[in-house]
Amino acid sequence: MTSDLDGRTALVTGGASGIGLACVRALAAAGAKVHVVDVDRERAEAAASEVGGWAHSVDLTESGAVERLPGEVDVLVNNAGIQHVAPLEDFPPDVFARIQTLMVTAPFLLIRHTLPSMYARGWGRIVNMSSVHGLRASAYKAAYVTAKHGLEGLSKVAALEGAEHGVTSNCVNPGYVRTPLVDGQIDAQAAEHDVPREDVVAEVLLKRAAIKKLIEPEDVASLVVWLCSPRAGHVTGASIPLDGGWTAA
Ligand code: NAD
Repeated sequence: MTSDLDGRTALVTGGASGIGLACVRALAAAGAKVHVVDVDRERAEAAASEVGGWAHSVDLTESGAVERLPGEVDVLVNNAGIQHVAPLEDFPPDVFARIQTLMVTAPFLLIRHTLPSMYARGWGRIVNMSSVHGLRASAYKAAYVTAKHGLEGLSKVAALEGAEHGVTSNCVNPGYVRTPLVDGQIDAQAAEHDVPREDVVAEVLLKRAAIKKLIEPEDVASLVVWLCSPRAGHVTGASIPLDGGWTAA
C-alpha cells in the first residue's frame, strides 16, 4: 500500500456510502486522516470509526452547513450527490434547485472554505465527482446533467486559480458504478418493465458503454487517490472518464 498521503488531511462529502465511502477507505489506506461528511449520521460515524477519522453529520443543502466543517484540509473530495428523474415539463422546480445547491453550490462553498489553508501550505488537491453526465446529456435528468456540467466549469476555474499555489483541481467522470444510488435505479426499472435486473444493467444503463459491466466504487477511489498523489502533480483542470468507453463513442 502506498503512503503518499501520510500527514495529509482529507475531507470527503457523501463519504458514508458508495463511491464516497470507497474514497474514504482508499485515502485512509494511502495515509490520510479523513473527515467523513454526510447527512446520514449513523453511517458517517461508522465510516469514520472504521478508518480512525472524524464524522460530520450535516445536510449540505442547509445554509451555514459548510461553515461548520473544518477548513484546514489538504484534500477535498466533492462527492455528495443525488438523482431525480422526470421529464422537463414535470420537473419539480424545488428539486431542481436542491440538486444545484447540493452538487454545485456546496462544492463551490467547500472550495472557498478550504482554499486558504491549501494556499497557505502551497499544496492541495481538489477532486470533484462528476459523471459521464458532466460530459454528455441524458433525457429526463435535467437537474443532474445541469449540475454536473456546472461542476465541470467550477473545477476548471479552481484549477486555473490554484495552479500558482500548488493546488490541482480535477473531475472524475464515472459511468454507472455499483452503489446504492444505482441499485435503486436498477430495481425501479426492473419493476417498471418487469424484466430481470441483469437486463436493465446491460440494455438500459450500459447501452452506450463498450464494456457492459458496472464499475466498482473501489476503481473510482483508486483514480481519486492517484489524482492526490505526487505523480499527478501536472494533472489539473482535467475531466477523466472512467466509463467503459461510453464517451469514446
Ligand atoms: P450514494 O447514494 O451511494 O452516496 C451518496 C452519499 O451522499 C450518501 O451517503 C448520502 O447520504 C450523501 N448525501 C446525499 N445528500 C446529502 C446532503 N444533502 N448532505 C450531505 N450528504 C448527502 O451515491 P454514489 O452512487 O456513491 O454517488 C456519489 C457521487 O458519485 C454522486 O455525486 C454521483 O452523482 C456520482 N456518480 C455516481 C455514479 C454511479 O453510477 N453510482 C456515476 C457517476 C457519478
